[in-house]
Amino acid sequence: MKTPEEFRAEAHKMADRIADYFQQIEQYPVKSLVKPGEIASRLPDFPPDHPEQMDDIMEDFEEIIMPGITHWQHPGFFAFFPANSSYPSVLAEMLTAALGQQGMIWETSPAAAELEQRVMEWLKTMCGLPADWTGVIQDTASASTLTALLTAREKATGFSVNHDGFDKEKKLRIYCSTETHSSIEKAARIAGFGRKNLVKIAVDDNFAMNPSALRDAITKDLNDGCRPCCVVATIGTTSSTAVDPIAEIGKICREHDIWLHVDAAFAGTALVLNEMRHFADGLELADSYVFNPHKWMFTNFDCSAYFVKDPDLLIRTFEILPEYLKTRTRGQVNDYRDWGVALGRRFRALKLWFVIRNFGVEGIRDKVRKHLDLAQWLAGEINQSPEFELLAPVPFSLVCFRFRPLQISDESAIDNLNEKLLQLLNASGRLYITHTRLHGKYTLRMVTAQTNVERIHVEKAWTLIRATAGELIKSGNTGE
Ligand SMILES: *Cc1c(COP(=O)(O)O)cnc(C)c1O
Repeated sequence: MKTPEEFRAEAHKMADRIADYFQQIEQYPVKSLVKPGEIASRLPDFPPDHPEQMDDIMEDFEEIIMPGITHWQHPGFFAFFPANSSYPSVLAEMLTAALGQQGMIWETSPAAAELEQRVMEWLKTMCGLPADWTGVIQDTASASTLTALLTAREKATGFSVNHDGFDKEKKLRIYCSTETHSSIEKAARIAGFGRKNLVKIAVDDNFAMNPSALRDAITKDLNDGCRPCCVVATIGTTSSTAVDPIAEIGKICREHDIWLHVDAAFAGTALVLNEMRHFADGLELADSYVFNPHKWMFTNFDCSAYFVKDPDLLIRTFEILPEYLKTRTRGQVNDYRDWGVALGRRFRALKLWFVIRNFGVEGIRDKVRKHLDLAQWLAGEINQSPEFELLAPVPFSLVCFRFRPLQISDESAIDNLNEKLLQLLNASGRLYITHTRLHGKYTLRMVTAQTNVERIHVEKAWTLIRATAGELIKSGNTGE
């Protein structure tokens, strides 16, 4: 492809292909059924020396690549948390790729910088976040949390670790619950705190952090000569969407001058609804906050919204100014390379802007409300079914449950049975669910938050789950 005309023809074909894909998506098995190595074995060992035609490339895409695709945009995708896309988001990504912006500083893409600033203000308004916060887009919640821990570290040490390294510091301690996402431990390691200075606080019966256990841990550390540096609280934990008591935790943090970072990677989108904002009570006490529009806000991966109370601390932590990046606009505009780890930045604000405008805030609210209702419907069905049980409250759109037939009482047999059930369901190609462990029990997780999921998909899934569970019992193949 060399000329704009050749590109135009291919792009038209591609648009048709993408539209066909969305139209026919329910014909694909949700979870890819290939074996490890199967795709790689069909790819040539060496790259082509000479140009290949787009038709040939696309033929291989269909034959080799598509079988190895797990269909995250399939309405039968109930696994993990969603990584939702949508029509306006896909269109924006086409433009993003075409423009190929490198938004490291304002001058390299003034529109990318200024649109980012504005859409982050929009998100703040949409979700009722504190008006004095400032937002920046990061690639992932993992990167946002790393950014938070680094800033907390520098604030606690008067910016000395950046300069001198860690040597002279007291032990800096980080606190999170036993249910916190693994990205917090990863960030604690990368930021130099060390895994053993990450203190995991016990949770209550509903998997939310116990604030008095947090207080005790902080007191103990102070007595031992450590320096409590940061607490990471979660709104919507990954296993069960539990909500840590932000207001109480925030109060403890304020008493001891500890940074509070709140991770709402998945559930944060629910704050578009007034009736869900009570889950964020006390959020104004946080120093930083992250949620992922790339999970539940119909903006395709990657797009993570990170907010801070004090952007000066953030910039002082990350700022580096080599001669070749000095500009005359510095100080008047946001140079986002100083707001996180990477220098180079994609133009992610564009797809968020397209999504918010094309859905409208009310359109986003309608979808989120529907997803919450679907989860309540499913939870109701499970509650009424003598052979299934809920294993956690359902505050958002994740339902945690298991099959528990009356004739089996041994816990490990029930675990095996549910593991077998999960495998059979996912091998059917008709849905994809994943698992966790809650109170030691093997737990099925079903998230009703895919962009295009409707009541019919959840009903069909529930029917299939019951039928498959029934067959498992009938066949005596209970995994024992
Ligand atoms: C998904 C998730 C993360 C990680 O998100 P990435 O954007 O993939 O880094 C972190 N915390 C919670 C609570 C999550 O659900």
